[in-house]
Amino acid sequence: MHIRAEVITVGTEILLGEILNTNTRYLSKRCAEKGIDVYHHVTVGDNHDRLRECLIAARTRADLILVTGGIGPTPDDITREAVADVWGQKLILDPDLLHRMECFYAHRSLNMTANNKRQALIPRGAVPLKNERGTAPGFFLHDQMGSVACLPGPPDEMEPMFSESLIPLLKKYAMLPSTQLFTRDIRTAGIGESALASEIDSLLRNQSDPTLATYAGEGMVRVRLATRARTPSEAQEKFAPVTRRVEEILGSHVYGYDDDSLSGAVGEILRSRELTLAVAESCTGGLLGEMITQTPGASDYFKGGIICYANAVKMGSLGVEEDLLLRHGAVSEPVAAAMAEGVMRALDASVSVAVTGVAGPGGGSDEKPVGMVALAFGGPWGVVTQRRVFSGSRQNIRRISAISALVRLRELILNKC
Ligand code: ATP
Ligand code: MG
Repeated sequence: MHIRAEVITVGTEILLGEILNTNTRYLSKRCAEKGIDVYHHVTVGDNHDRLRECLIAARTRADLILVTGGIGPTPDDITREAVADVWGQKLILDPDLLHRMECFYAHRSLNMTANNKRQALIPRGAVPLKNERGTAPGFFLHDQMGSVACLPGPPDEMEPMFSESLIPLLKKYAMLPSTQLFTRDIRTAGIGESALASEIDSLLRNQSDPTLATYAGEGMVRVRLATRARTPSEAQEKFAPVTRRVEEILGSHVYGYDDDSLSGAVGEILRSRELTLAVAESCTGGLLGEMITQTPGASDYFKGGIICYANAVKMGSLGVEEDLLLRHGAVSEPVAAAMAEGVMRALDASVSVAVTGVAGPGGGSDEKPVGMVALAFGGPWGVVTQRRVFSGSRQNIRRISAISALVRLRELILNKC
């Protein structure tokens, strides 16, 4: 079965760029998971006639219309009127909804105004959708004219109403496909997207079910498998052989799956080898430590870090020699190496990472352009250094420096410990 859906978000503030339209994203993602095909996204201001036009257009091309916003109590909330108008139904006062709203206000010792009462109006024939977190109820209207669900604008009210009230109703009306879309991300690091794509070229060319696609992110590439299946275990069965093939080809570039983080993967490797880590950060200003400590239990292997922004701190806390700084400059492989050695000693760790670079936007030179970063890795292998040049904004350069440090550290430990 094939359900075509359209998402209409109502709100002038979305058109003005004042708020980010996260409702469209949420609904589209959830529909994809449920196997409902979303073919159109529409955003319209708080204007009766224009919303009417959108609803009429959507009805000609979608089996299910999902509307968010404009169902509150104020006169600019026009969704219920526009839907009733297009569906040719009267708005009627739902006694149950009115009662619920009276209780909601009484419970909070608030006065209920005539405006609020408007929210108990729903088109004749519509099924109300409860709102556990606010007052504006939603509704689902499903008749020979078409199917439309109206949900509140605030995401914290809309999302639970969609999951807990609308999805069961769609199931009841046989509007949920029997198969859902499942995905698995195979996360890789230390290999670029085009190199990765050529490694798995034959899999990409001969794909059928599951489908395969590559997505490049900051410092890492995901291989995404997707399939339609009736149950999660059926999907897992389909993913298993392709996952194995990808793992065989990409080897240790694969660091995890789905929501696994790179820093968590590095943490696991440190833990399993009983290594401890210390970091010395200049241009990343603590970002590397922040990434590492996002993983619960990081205290098992992470000793800590020293943010050594000023040369005086590089010398005082890490024992970097002044002569080295004068000869090579703070952004240089010899200084990074001295930082890595210094922090390993200072924090009594078995491996260490040091990052020093020109994050920009100013401060670059021909020899050391903005984006140049010197990395050093101390450990049982001695000290290894690396010079990289990244591009992008200051924040991009800082983030990619921290991520690259984790990628290289992981490679070193896997190869040398
Ligand atoms: P209310 O009862 O709060 O008036 P409503 O259903 O009438 O609810 P709107 O008035 O359209 O909804 O929007 C209320 C708030 O919900 C907005 O100010 C905004 O913060 C949030 N919101 C609305 N639409 C979206 C959207 N598409 N994406 C993210 N947030 C949204
Ligand atoms: Mg409103």
